[in-house]
Amino acid sequence: MDHGKTTLVKALTGTWTAKHSEELKRGITIKIGYADAGFWKCPKCEPPQCYTTKNVCPNCGSPTEFLRAVSFVDCPGHEILMTTMLSGAAVMDGAILVIAANEKVPQPQTKEHLAALEILGVKNIVIVQNKIDLVTREKALENYKQILSFIEGTIAEDAPIIPVSAQWEVNIDLVIKAIEEKIPTPKRDLSKPPLMYVLRSFDINRPGTSIDDLKGGVIGGSLLQGYFQIGDEIEIRPGVYVKKGNKAYYEPLYTEITSLQAGGKNVEKAYCGGLVGIGTKLDPSITKGDGLIGNIVGRPGHLRDPYTELTLDITLFERIIGLQEYQKVEKIKPNEAIVLNIGTATTLAIVRSVKDNIVEVLLRRPVCIAYKQRVAISRKVKGRWRLIGYGIVKD
Ligand code: ZN
Repeated sequence: MDHGKTTLVKALTGTWTAKHSEELKRGITIKIGYADAGFWKCPKCEPPQCYTTKNVCPNCGSPTEFLRAVSFVDCPGHEILMTTMLSGAAVMDGAILVIAANEKVPQPQTKEHLAALEILGVKNIVIVQNKIDLVTREKALENYKQILSFIEGTIAEDAPIIPVSAQWEVNIDLVIKAIEEKIPTPKRDLSKPPLMYVLRSFDINRPGTSIDDLKGGVIGGSLLQGYFQIGDEIEIRPGVYVKKGNKAYYEPLYTEITSLQAGGKNVEKAYCGGLVGIGTKLDPSITKGDGLIGNIVGRPGHLRDPYTELTLDITLFERIIGLQEYQKVEKIKPNEAIVLNIGTATTLAIVRSVKDNIVEVLLRRPVCIAYKQRVAISRKVKGRWRLIGYGIVKD
């Protein structure tokens, strides 16, 4: 079931990560199971040989020009971690679907990943047919045909398919070229106030650090719009859970940005595209262990109130995703417990009413909603939460 994703990311990021080990030591880098890469272009070579992850052209030895910083969000391969993948997908500009050339297509997890991309409307997809070194030319062609029929009629229909051996770093330049063409850096709408989903949050202090040396909490995520700069005041919602007497509620957090990191570098301003790490003055005990995952960050006073109930216009799949065998998706019933992925937040919800495609749910915890976004719906089937469809939030 290993499609060679880790090897591919290593082939795409090797030099870059090593180069920034100093920054890694300084600790703000978002640890998300992701890697930062730099794409470079040789001014003398023709495509695709001109594309490289190195600052010297491996083809002709010329110094290369920096193209862009890219962050890879590693989506867990195992279906049990589907909800984690959906959170990651909420901050992705595009996706690389890795398919092993030595396996039958599609594997259940590949099917599930594609379904998630479909749900979240991630259209910019590059397909990597990996491990071509492990099969004969005939087998590779047969596998290629299986990929084509698998993606027919799906959101990945027009995705380029790049045959690769990540292990031997064959065709990595072609992968970069495809990413450049298919997953462009998103347009930056700088006029809108900043908005970011929190995908990770942590405490960067070593155990036993004295109070005077303690660094504030760090949050990581991806900007949906606008930009952040050092010194900005920010608000984080819904915030932290507070219990006072018999009253329990979420309280928004207010803090200041003390440092910023994007593309593995310290920066003054951070924009859309790739992952951003934000150093704050927050008590690190609040941010530690992903404590703020699922929150949204913006300028104070610009964020909408969190929702505790939602009305969804739902679309259910015909069959349950991720199961080997065919199992029909039954209708959603009142009082049923379902899991919703809303942005980077995951919450249990209880169905209050169902009328045709319109479902009203009560959320276990409040969730901030950025737009009329898509919400992934899972139901417990055979002991696991499985994806059964999606809903669009109605106002
Ligand atoms: Zn060159």
